[in-house]
Order: sequence, then C-alpha cells, then structure tokens
Amino acid sequence: MRRIHRIQIDIQARCELAVRRKGLLDKESARKEWDRYRRSAKSRPVIEALKAMNGLRQRCVYCCDSRSADVDHFTPIAVDYTLALTWKNFIMICPECNRRKSARFPVDAAGNPLLIDPTREDPWAHLILDTKNGYLSARFLDDDFDPKGDATVDVFSCVNHEAVVEGRRRVVTRYYEAVDVLLEAKADRNSLQKLVREVREDEYGISGWFAFREGRSEERFSVMRSEHQSAWRRFATESFRSQLPVAR
Ligand SMILES: [Zn+2]
Repeated sequence: MRRIHRIQIDIQARCELAVRRKGLLDKESARKEWDRYRRSAKSRPVIEALKAMNGLRQRCVYCCDSRSADVDHFTPIAVDYTLALTWKNFIMICPECNRRKSARFPVDAAGNPLLIDPTREDPWAHLILDTKNGYLSARFLDDDFDPKGDATVDVFSCVNHEAVVEGRRRVVTRYYEAVDVLLEAKADRNSLQKLVREVREDEYGISGWFAFREGRSEERFSVMRSEHQSAWRRFATESFRSQLPVAR
C-alpha cells in the first residue's frame, strides 16, 4: 500500500460533477448516473487525473501488484449515494481489490470508515512492514491493533499474497544493497544515483518506511543518516516526490 496525493481537477470537470449530483435521489439513481457519467467523454478529465495520481506504472495503490483499472468509490454508493459523483471519493484501484472492497466497508462506532484512504493519509501511520519477510500488518498500539490497519489488511488480504510479499521483499533487498554500496562509496554521485533509481522504481511505497518510519532506525539507514546527511536528505526528498502525481 502506498501514499498518493490528490490532484485538483479543473472547474469544468467539477461543475459537470456538481450538475449530475443534483439528480441523485437514491442508490439506484446514483448508480445509473455514475454509469452514464463513466461511459461519457465528460469523465475523461477525471480518469486522466486519477491515472496521474497513481504514478507512471499505474499500479494499484492498495496491493501495488496489479494494474489499477477500476474507479472505486472510497465510500461505496451503497453506503452513501450522495458521494457517487464526488471527486474526493474517487480512487483508481485494481479489479481484484475493487471486488474485495465493494463487498466490505467496515466503519467504527461513529460511522467513520476503517479502511485507509491513501489519498488522505499515510498507510504507514497504520501499518508496519516486516522487512525480514515482506509482510504487512497492523500497528500494535497500547493494548490492541490499530483499527484502520487491522481492517485494511483484513479486507485487502491480497496485500499479503505470496507474490506480493515476495515483490516487497525484493524491493527491501534492493534498498539494502543500494545503501550498502552508498556507505562503501562514501555517498559518491553514482551510489546516490543508484539509490534514487531504486526509489523511483519502488512500486510498493517502501521508501517511505525507510525514510520516515521505523525503517530509518535499521542500522545501515541510521549510519547513512548520521554520516551522509545530504545524501539522506536527497533520499527523503525523492521518497516524498515518488508519492506525487506524474504529468501525463
Ligand atoms: Zn489491487
């Protein structure tokens, strides 16, 4: 799972959605209006913006494994039909994650969603990465699991499918190698470029774990942080940049 950032869509696209929202009366009318909108050329700017938010390779923001191809309503139409045509409720995910999510949308006692919305919050605030085996799990708070992390890993159980875990483990190994090379080369230009390349090719958002979360305390990262501060700053900056939308 990885953090992405929402783009502002232009005034015409916002206006188009607002006009269509006026006609929504119930779940049924909302579903029909959404289908009409999705099939029309008017939805194109929204689709393009969602694709840009997902980055160059268009991987799904939840599993980070498959290509994102479906527009998901973060709050499903069945739960709140008034959000069927609301820009901030759209997210592009893969068909498999969409199928898993559409059937389940856990909420807390106050009715707030328990799934992580990666356009609004950093998944690493609720999840931890076991760098030894590549598994994602919910953070453990004072005496229980983080409710959002727990619900998200439960609904999107594919985040711990064998191939996905293996992919994550491979990326972790590549970071280890790149940082070891960097430390060996005293953060020379080539070694820093190699590390930057790893961040740009990281489909799993793992750089955020090493740059901003507990991963930064692992020995090689901690040495890099104290001994090569400007290389460390570049690493952190690239990690943040990798979350930003790409020009299309
Ligand atoms: Zn997915």
